[in-house]
Amino acid sequence: MSAPIQSHGGEPAPPAPGHAAARPGEFQRDDVPLGEEWHSALYAMACRQFARAADVLALEDEVRTRLLEPRRSLVCNFPVRMDSGEVVNYTGYRVQHTLTMGPTKGGLRFAPDLGFGECAALAMWMTWKCSLVNLPFGGAKGGVRCDPYALSPGEMERITRRYAAEILPVIGPDVDIPAPDMGTGEREMAWFYDTYSQSVGNAVPAVVTGKPVALGGTVGRQSATGLGVVFTIESAFEELDWALPERSFVVQGFGNVGSVVAQELHARGGKVLAVSDIRGAITNPHGLDIPAVTRWVAEHQYLEGYPEAEPIDGGAMLELECDVLVPAAREEQITHQNADRLRCRLIVEGANGPTTPAADRILAERGIVVVPDILANAGGVIVSYFEWVQSHQKYSWEALEVRERLRTQMRAAFGRVRATADELGVDHRTAALASAIQHVSEAAKLRAIYP
Ligand code: NAD
Repeated sequence: MSAPIQSHGGEPAPPAPGHAAARPGEFQRDDVPLGEEWHSALYAMACRQFARAADVLALEDEVRTRLLEPRRSLVCNFPVRMDSGEVVNYTGYRVQHTLTMGPTKGGLRFAPDLGFGECAALAMWMTWKCSLVNLPFGGAKGGVRCDPYALSPGEMERITRRYAAEILPVIGPDVDIPAPDMGTGEREMAWFYDTYSQSVGNAVPAVVTGKPVALGGTVGRQSATGLGVVFTIESAFEELDWALPERSFVVQGFGNVGSVVAQELHARGGKVLAVSDIRGAITNPHGLDIPAVTRWVAEHQYLEGYPEAEPIDGGAMLELECDVLVPAAREEQITHQNADRLRCRLIVEGANGPTTPAADRILAERGIVVVPDILANAGGVIVSYFEWVQSHQKYSWEALEVRERLRTQMRAAFGRVRATADELGVDHRTAALASAIQHVSEAAKLRAIYP
């Protein structure tokens, strides 16, 4: 962590060459160039990050265009009967960013504001993440625009199964393999797996990862992303010569990723000062009793009302003084509006896209190091890959093997990013992206243009 952190490039970032010119200011909803229906604020952010790394690599325009635009996308609208008897139409997406590296891989997000552009950005980040950790996949992302918290289990099942049936033509164990993301988990993966298997007439466990272990899922998948974040924190601490029990942490989001991060940090003696969820945040300056918080959430669903802590506004929580801030909830949480008020020394991104490029620049100027999402939260897709391999081999690995292989791959990826950052004289995000993009662009050139 000793190399100076530099800020490169600037906003606004270019859309793909051959398309509309770079535009200043924020993305407007009606500002969608024809032929770029996937454009959105988040996609523009992914393009800005890409452009910085592509400039460092002096990547040719032709390759930039090929790597930026989502290769194959499916949008579907489908009816679902609700418990009340009413029929509601839902919109679903599946975006496959590149088909160059192997089958595509990426999560299913169920969220009320999900859009095509968000899926396109997340699919692109999945490509870079898989490439960075040497997995034989391209990136994908999809999901349904719905509010999972407002749906009954029966409604969730009907939405998941119908969505699975709608995207069936572009899915398969060697084509595109979904996994959980925000708003989905083991339960939805089990329904997805069953729907696909019913339609082809035999069980195909490799069509999805993040399944329950009883259905051929792997041990260790559910905790993999959070555990991977903590392995990354340990690697960063080795460089900084920091001891984990002496350090303080703030974790945004208490779902699949954030709750595991908080638990693993607490188990290692780290002081978790505050955690948050969609309803708000709680803090205890002496450190939260995370096992007790976890039991509270298991019983009450939300952090709200936990007795051994003070409630605090979610935005204010991000500005608490601490050694490490782990955003593990949503994208665009650290922006030009709050980056100059953060009082952490290190940010380790559990979520995808939590820091905007403008915030990156401010943080770099302030000497706050950011360990980027495509490195820090890669544990989920790494163990998804292990699950996919086990499903294909019809052979299960032991928990210790999964954990140790995950640790080895996370540490190796951290080492590669550090070495690239030193070699190119760039920040960690640019280094991680440059390393990933280099690999994919080489493969794209070797496969050449068909026909
Ligand atoms: P989740 O749905 O299990 O949990 C999300 C958590 O964030 C919940 O506690 C929710 O209440 C909270 N939250 C939502 N909006 C918030 C806000 N504005 N402020 C504070 N908290 C808020 O989702 P997850 O699987 O933990 O995913 C979290 C992030 O990690 C997403 O960016 C996701 O793409 C990324 N990610 C997830 C995985 C995975 O394996 N699940 C892998 C890689 C990256």
